[in-house]
Amino acid sequence: GAPLAVADPAVHAAVGRELARQRGTLEMIASENFAPLSVLQAQGSVLTNKYAEGYPGRRYYGGCENVDEIEQLAIDRAKALFGAEYANVQPHSGAQANSAVLSALLDPGDTFLGLDLAHGGHLTHGMRRTFSGRYFRAVPYHVRESDHLVDMDEVERLAREHRPQLIIAGWSAYPRQLDFAHFRRIADEVGAYLMVDMAHFAGLVAAGLHESPVPYAHVVTSTTHKTLGGPRGGVVLAEAELGKKLNSGVFPGLQGGPLEHVIAAKAVAFKLAGEPEFRERQERTLAGARILADRLLPEDHVGLVSGGTDVHLVLVDLRESALDGRQAEDRLHRVGITVNRNAVPFDPRPPVVSSGIRIGTPALAARGFTEADFEEVADVIALALRPAAGEDELDKLATRVTALAERHPLYPGVVA
Ligand code: PLP
Repeated sequence: GAPLAVADPAVHAAVGRELARQRGTLEMIASENFAPLSVLQAQGSVLTNKYAEGYPGRRYYGGCENVDEIEQLAIDRAKALFGAEYANVQPHSGAQANSAVLSALLDPGDTFLGLDLAHGGHLTHGMRRTFSGRYFRAVPYHVRESDHLVDMDEVERLAREHRPQLIIAGWSAYPRQLDFAHFRRIADEVGAYLMVDMAHFAGLVAAGLHESPVPYAHVVTSTTHKTLGGPRGGVVLAEAELGKKLNSGVFPGLQGGPLEHVIAAKAVAFKLAGEPEFRERQERTLAGARILADRLLPEDHVGLVSGGTDVHLVLVDLRESALDGRQAEDRLHRVGITVNRNAVPFDPRPPVVSSGIRIGTPALAARGFTEADFEEVADVIALALRPAAGEDELDKLATRVTALAERHPLYPGVVA
């Protein structure tokens, strides 16, 4: 058949523009990253053609000898990377992984605890309009107003009051590490499963720079495309004895044919995540977030949720600023930095506007940004967020952003 440029010029041109956008701007959405070329190649391979319902060695289709080998590699590498007894690499996404675990371990109407969306939890941790909130009784816990840390006294109180079948520990917008041991003690006291959703910090865990939830949780879910830097997708890790239930929760529970091209890309990503360069990159990721925190904190009217960070992101608190979250997001977009507005805990503004922005460093670290580069980025952000910054000033900041982007070419030699 014809190549994309000929078969579909419209899609081809848009892909080209997206490559140019990624190259020319600074990507600081905390959940994004740049997958290495090897991952892109595996994902763009002929494996997309193959049906392989079932699991390696137990398929419902013929011709699975090659995808069996690939999926087994992905499973073995995920287990080795995270020290887990069991891995399922088939979930199409993080939301699918969470839904599969909930449906495998709970009955409809059962109760679970999860961090409130407005306090940093994920949609699948109990938000009303999702699978997790519609089919189960989701009880939210919160962060404390005093220090923005998860209120473990509240988790304990709610667990005793509601006797949940499962507790979710994990977050999408929270700049600190959780106390997994404490969560497990509470889960054990009330006879609940502990599920840790490490989607955001899986790369830090793989690099040994964040405590691993695997020894504490009955089940760990993750995406593979955030700090981990692989293809978009999900993974479930667990104790061996839950394997059978979880396998059938994913397939046939929630999904049909696995995406073997994505699974191949996951296998590549798990291999790369075990290498020294990956650890070095995660160290720069953390250093970049700390630099952002250090340089933003002294700014007038800018706060940081929890006062800082020990992960790959900062949550900027604009409750005292003349700029709201949407205006701050637009300001940074104007100078070539992509972030997302985000509610901060106890946010007086509605979610569509919100009073915060979430800024993450994984993608720039993948691009090779050094600590000196992150200092420059942090200065640009601090100046752009000054409410009085005028058009001339923003133009100058945009020039500095372009220079930073050019210093670290993205996907050199690649054409869309
Ligand atoms: N879990 C957490 C903690 C997340 O932050 C996200 C994504 O934002 C997900 C799950 C869902 O992942 P996906 O977008 O792949 O469904």
